Amino acid sequence: MKSVDYIIVGQGLAGTLLAHDLIEKKQSVLIIDKPHAAMASKVAAGLFNPVGVKRCIRSWMADDFLPVAIERYKFLEKKLGSTFFNINPIFRLFPNEANRKQWQVKCSNERMNDFISDFEPPNSYSFLKDEFGGASIYPAGNLEVVKFLDASRLFFKSENCLLEEKFNFKLLEAHVGVYKGVQAKKIIFCEGFRAIYNPHFKYLPFSPTKGEILTIRIPKLEKFEKIVSKGVYILPLGDHLYRVGATFNHLEQDELVTTEGIAYLHDKIKQILEEEYDVVSEKAGVRPTTRDRKPFLGEHPKHKKLAIFNGLGTRGVIQGPYLSAHFTTFLTTSEKLLKDADIQRYKGLF
Ligand SMILES: Cc1cc2nc3c(=O)[nH]c(=O)nc-3n(C[C@H](O)[C@H](O)[C@H](O)COP(=O)(O)OP(=O)(O)OC[C@H]3O[C@@H](n4cnc5c(N)ncnc54)[C@H](O)[C@@H]3O)c2cc1C
Repeated sequence: MKSVDYIIVGQGLAGTLLAHDLIEKKQSVLIIDKPHAAMASKVAAGLFNPVGVKRCIRSWMADDFLPVAIERYKFLEKKLGSTFFNINPIFRLFPNEANRKQWQVKCSNERMNDFISDFEPPNSYSFLKDEFGGASIYPAGNLEVVKFLDASRLFFKSENCLLEEKFNFKLLEAHVGVYKGVQAKKIIFCEGFRAIYNPHFKYLPFSPTKGEILTIRIPKLEKFEKIVSKGVYILPLGDHLYRVGATFNHLEQDELVTTEGIAYLHDKIKQILEEEYDVVSEKAGVRPTTRDRKPFLGEHPKHKKLAIFNGLGTRGVIQGPYLSAHFTTFLTTSEKLLKDADIQRYKGLF
């Protein structure tokens, strides 16, 4: 019987980061992936931001996640001979005077100035509705997720470790870790929101969130170097193009754009931009968000040959590299998982 150390199901952001980590630890890997239309990684703008902008707080484990993410994506750019990682400030536009004051106070009292610089006075930019001014969050930026996944896919193909097909649960022998005659130490599911259809892990409280985005063209603005944030983000892509997102919809789980979602984005753009713009494209995808907003990592409670690396939620780019390295250590040594990420916390639901 053929054997590998790990079978990974899904080559979105989660499966890709994990496969790189395991291969670098000299583990043999077989990735099984069939891209589907609503996958999150193909739609995400890929922003990483250590600050929760509404209340000006450090986001969960930002001090741990951010440095690992920056180092990891830079390393992967070199490894794959491609460029997909951009460090750029996020320019938070204050929606009102109270919010501006709140940021100024937090910045002087609560170590937030590690991440926040350059408070800018009202009306600094003619093309923005910045009547309450703004502040820059740095380091921040974005991963060009599709470019990263495509470069990785080429790499996995060259290593002969990618099977481009749908994983069929009828062919899985869960108790022994065999799939289609291939024996694995573990089969790790990285299926994004489609984990809700996985017979072994659907007991976990996923709460998928559909998101819609726009690509727009602003004829009078070739490239604003900062990512603007106020209700939605406006991410500069170059050559007058900008990505705008995103909506949050807990009711639908498909790739179809909606009239309401697109209207919401236009409304938000009009609260930010003074300039005219045209729509270039509209897209939707589904985030693998969870009820407690924390990731789902760990072994199946009954079938020890099955595991999950999922639940990267709205912040896959910043938390993915740290969690993938952490999960790789868990798989290859006897180190325990972070309590907040370990699916053990839901063993009562199994
Ligand atoms: C509109 C939108 C905007 C976002 N913006 C950001 C952002 O700015 N910053 C950020 O950090 N995150 C953002 N996210 C979230 C981010 O996209 C996710 O955290 C991340 O991409 C999740 O990756 P994943 O690999 O878990 O899932 P996915 O990207 O969904 O990948 C899962 C993969 O598994 C495959 N698969 C599933 N089932 C099977 C099967 N049975 N057989 C074979 N293959 C299978 C799928 O086809 C897919 O290839 C956004 C998401 C959306 C939708």
